[in-house]
Amino acid sequence: MSRPPDVADLVARARRGEHRAVARLISLVETDTADSPGGRAVLREVAAALAPHTGRAHVVGLTGPPGVGKSTSTSALVTALRQRGRRVGVLAVDPSSPFSGGALLGDRVRMGEHATDDGVFIRSMASRGHLGGLAWSTPQALRVLDAAGCDVVLVETVGVGQSEIEVVALADTTVVLLAPGMGDEVQAAKAGILEVADVLAVNKADRDGAARTVRDLEQAVAMGADVAPTGWRRPVVQTVAVRGEGIDELVAALDAHRAWLGRSGDRLRRRRARAVAEIEALTLEQVRRRIGDLRVAGRLADRVAAGELDPYRAADELLGTLGAMGAGGGGV
Ligand code: GDP
Repeated sequence: MSRPPDVADLVARARRGEHRAVARLISLVETDTADSPGGRAVLREVAAALAPHTGRAHVVGLTGPPGVGKSTSTSALVTALRQRGRRVGVLAVDPSSPFSGGALLGDRVRMGEHATDDGVFIRSMASRGHLGGLAWSTPQALRVLDAAGCDVVLVETVGVGQSEIEVVALADTTVVLLAPGMGDEVQAAKAGILEVADVLAVNKADRDGAARTVRDLEQAVAMGADVAPTGWRRPVVQTVAVRGEGIDELVAALDAHRAWLGRSGDRLRRRRARAVAEIEALTLEQVRRRIGDLRVAGRLADRVAAGELDPYRAADELLGTLGAMGAGGGGV
């Protein structure tokens, strides 16, 4: 184990936009588990140091079926946002991979053109194996990029996964990508994707059937207007990501949604809901850990198994013991 990191120094350097400090901090939040030497202490220190410098970045989640063009669109968006002088973070989350870290997956070849740009921070993260999947380390990585002054952070799902919902749960603005010729996808859209989409992009608009897909989606959006009475009408944008076409319109739609989030108060509502989920996950983990540590749980189990105690009373007793321990006893 190397010497403990100087967290305050790392955060200060990350805030100046130093890539190495940003990468180090993300590695810390990603790999520092309670099982590692130093336990959660570093994670806590990083979280506390980052908190005052967060809340500014616009977090945009990109989701959609594999092969629809998420990576290509992400790269095209980075180019367009850089042209506007914005600092951009990219988190490519691979829910199917057990590997983490920039060295293995990060700076992927197709993002190569941005690799030397000081205003772009690209990071790949694996989520498998983490408690709660995405819900665990990705929000921390987002905070690092936020504190590093990213105006926009794009969160892209790589590979096939069940993480669509998690990506949605993290984002201020969710873009759902679809492509022509994916009739099933329009059905899927009608069945629920629309509900999570703030912006719909029909990519591969150079292919036959794009106009039809757009029309179908616009109809579905119009029909769904009453089920989502939020006052935001989901735009349907056509893109040809490989040629950068329609990307300006996509950026405009993202900006419009960002502005709407601020006006309507929805940004705060969404962020508050995310905070609730995060606090809940952390609390549950602490409770689990403490129960695991408690001998009393074993004794209660013996009594329940022997028929001396019913499981509800056993649970009450266990909660009572946890309460008596108070905060900080579990070291999470
Ligand atoms: P992902 O799996 O959703 O990330 O999709 P990718 O970005 O990897 O794209 C899948 C394939 O579709 C690649 O071969 C891309 O070059 C191609 N592709 C992406 N965008 C377009 C587009 O607008 N038109 C066409 N014809 N192909 C595209």
